[in-house]
Amino acid sequence: MDRNILKNETNILVVGYGISGKSVASFLTKKGHNVYVYDDNDALTIPNHVTYINWNEIDIVVKSPSVHIMPHNRHQIVDDAIFNEKPIYSTFDIFKIYNPNAKIIGITGTNGKSTTVSLIYNILRTAGISVKLGGNIGIPYFDTLQYINPEYYIFEMSSYELTSSKLLDFEIGGLLNIEPDHLDFHGSFENYIEAKHKILDFSKCKIVSCDDKYTINKYKGKKNVITVSLYKDATADYYVENNVLVKNDTAVLDISNLPNLVGKHNAQNVLFAYAVCSKIGVSPEKITHGITTFDPLPHRMNVVRKIGDVLFVDDSKATNPTSSAPALATFTGYKIFWLVGGRSKHIDPMPYIGKYIDGIEKIYLFGEATDEFSNIFKSIKTVEVCKTMDAAVRSAYRDARNELGATVVLLSPMCASFDQFKSFEHRGNIFVQLVNELQ
Ligand code: ADP
Repeated sequence: MDRNILKNETNILVVGYGISGKSVASFLTKKGHNVYVYDDNDALTIPNHVTYINWNEIDIVVKSPSVHIMPHNRHQIVDDAIFNEKPIYSTFDIFKIYNPNAKIIGITGTNGKSTTVSLIYNILRTAGISVKLGGNIGIPYFDTLQYINPEYYIFEMSSYELTSSKLLDFEIGGLLNIEPDHLDFHGSFENYIEAKHKILDFSKCKIVSCDDKYTINKYKGKKNVITVSLYKDATADYYVENNVLVKNDTAVLDISNLPNLVGKHNAQNVLFAYAVCSKIGVSPEKITHGITTFDPLPHRMNVVRKIGDVLFVDDSKATNPTSSAPALATFTGYKIFWLVGGRSKHIDPMPYIGKYIDGIEKIYLFGEATDEFSNIFKSIKTVEVCKTMDAAVRSAYRDARNELGATVVLLSPMCASFDQFKSFEHRGNIFVQLVNELQ
């Protein structure tokens, strides 16, 4: 399978016209192909939009990442394409077809992908290595193309893209962690795990966490595998002991004082970034420099403001219980006024957040998931049903300001944002605005 599948003027149907679909459609059009676009939303203004597909006129299909492809809830167009024996490619595949020699570092995991790819990007960039960042982080692959090819591309890989791609091929692939997520898309947790493992199966060098029980036994001891652990583990290539990162039993970095990478979860991201950059040959001094100069990404545990003793923290990117757990862990010793809600992922939060429950003073619920979380929490914690995040912010501040000692109003919603907001960024920005308006 190579570039020859795209001969001159291939007739291509792009399915889905979001950020990735738009980008791949425009790229393929510029390459001289006949591009048609299908999107469920008829209201969009789309060049070459088709609502009826004449399959005799289509050679291949290119699928946007979130278009369902698994048998349990396949999109009708995907079903029709399979019936009509049309090959289906992902947007990653198209990138690979046009850039067969690109050296790609791929990072996936349930949580920490964006932070880790941004950290690797910062280390390589400040070390003077030419590098481009893209993928699920919101930068389509085709936006990374430039006249001179960079030495490395760093791509954040979603499980959707991993499942859908036929041409995966990474110089280095890292799998941070696996917890249940996106079960609606994949149909089962087993399928989700299989998708995540694909990044390792198609990487020359594989970076694996010893702490990931779904992965480690499959890869440990195999060729070209580098292992990392958050706990002292003499069998791991990298581990953390007393807040110090240890490589092959030698201390290499004190991680106790990284204000932009606080918490154990970020220690995991640092471990992976260190392992990737070291493998590429970046010196320990340059890696340390890239880590200590890293600017935090927005909406991931960002302190917005402090009013008196009340801290306001925006962790809008925490869209599932496993990503909210580290936020609650970080505020051990605080009284936590916790804003929760949005579109539920239907994952029981208690196995993840249960151990931090004592620190939670009160829970403020908003959005579609209100009833679900009210049923879970009302017998163990004080819960207020707020409907909107606006009301939740005001109520939480009213309560928090009357407490003595360190308190935090924490937006770490454990849910997707799409019921009331356009995205997690939109939700986070509104939170920041509401907090800044407080008197
Ligand atoms: P992703 O791109 O995988 O969604 P982000 O780096 O954007 O990951 O972080 C998303 C959320 O997960 C944030 O709330 C952040 O605090 C939390 N998080 C970041 N890294 C990790 C990790 N390694 N393990 C668990 N949670 C994490």
